[in-house]
Amino acid sequence: PFEVLVVGGGPAGAAASIYTARKGFSTGIAAERFGGQVLDTVGIENFISVPYTEGPKLAAQLEAHVGEYAIDVMNLQTATKLIPAARPGGLHEVQFENGASLKARTLILSTGARWRNLGVPGEFEYRNRGVAYCPHCDGPLFKGKRVAVIGGGNSGVEAAIDLANIVGHVTLVEFDSKLRADQVLQDKLRSMSNVDILLSAQSTEVTGDGERVNGLVYKNRETGAEHRVDLEGVFVQIGLVPNTEWLKDSGIELSKFGEIVIDTHAATSLPGIFAAGDCTTVPFKQIIIAMGEGSKAALSAFDYLIRNEAV
Ligand code: FAD
Repeated sequence: PFEVLVVGGGPAGAAASIYTARKGFSTGIAAERFGGQVLDTVGIENFISVPYTEGPKLAAQLEAHVGEYAIDVMNLQTATKLIPAARPGGLHEVQFENGASLKARTLILSTGARWRNLGVPGEFEYRNRGVAYCPHCDGPLFKGKRVAVIGGGNSGVEAAIDLANIVGHVTLVEFDSKLRADQVLQDKLRSMSNVDILLSAQSTEVTGDGERVNGLVYKNRETGAEHRVDLEGVFVQIGLVPNTEWLKDSGIELSKFGEIVIDTHAATSLPGIFAAGDCTTVPFKQIIIAMGEGSKAALSAFDYLIRNEAV
């Protein structure tokens, strides 16, 4: 068994494994896809101290850094079940899709999240070429341009407010007949002069010129009429889904959104099990935050290991 098993190989998991390996603990890291969401990213401009990098390059650097230590990297492993230790200090077990199972005294769960897709034509084709999911990451790329934000919940309306300060014009597109965001956010959005709000509008297609996005087609759900908005960017804000389905029957506490509930020390509701990054309740999902959280979870695992004798 490992002293530390990290499940998930994105920025959070990579950071966690390096920290525990540096404490001299036997560390394994099992990931469905080492690198995580970073692999799907092109330009990264907010990884502080690195003015510009690209996702695949950062993923390769994560792998290289992990490779500097005696960390057992198990790529292409999908965890399907967690069986927590029966008592503190005992071994936790993680089962995998291929039938394998691993045991460890502490676990660091860092399985990340995925953006919910619209599922309309053009969305996939123009991903990173006008279709974006993260306003903090990609907002400045649309300086002075016209964008749509799809989704009228808190994240959509926050994104629209954020973008309206940067881009030329924002069209907020909501499927329902009303926005679901907190009233204070709605009031703020409505006070901004370069924002249009479309309600009862079903986005049906992202259009482009073959290179980049040039428009969004939507259907007015009241009249059935189809319309097109000319624009350069589409931010999809219909939810970030944590990859925690496999934890449902484990007894670990999840939030109503399915995020692993953690405290300020990255501890979960189960002793000896820590969690970090986008799969948790940590506010704001970013690479630099995930790395910080992974390091924090690792130091908490270290603390647990020196205080609890193996049983
Ligand atoms: P992830 O990166 O999601 O990694 C999760 C890991 O867990 C992966 O290895 C995955 O394969 C694995 N996994 C999932 N389920 C299982 C399972 N059941 N069993 C085993 N392994 C599993 N952030 C920025 O700061 N700047 C940016 O410019 C930026 N741009 C982005 C652009 C795009 C297109 C996307 C999608 C995200 C972007 N982000 C950006 C967000 C950033 O990528 C995430 O916040 C960050 O990757 C989260 O790290 P993480 O380690 O928590 O999770």
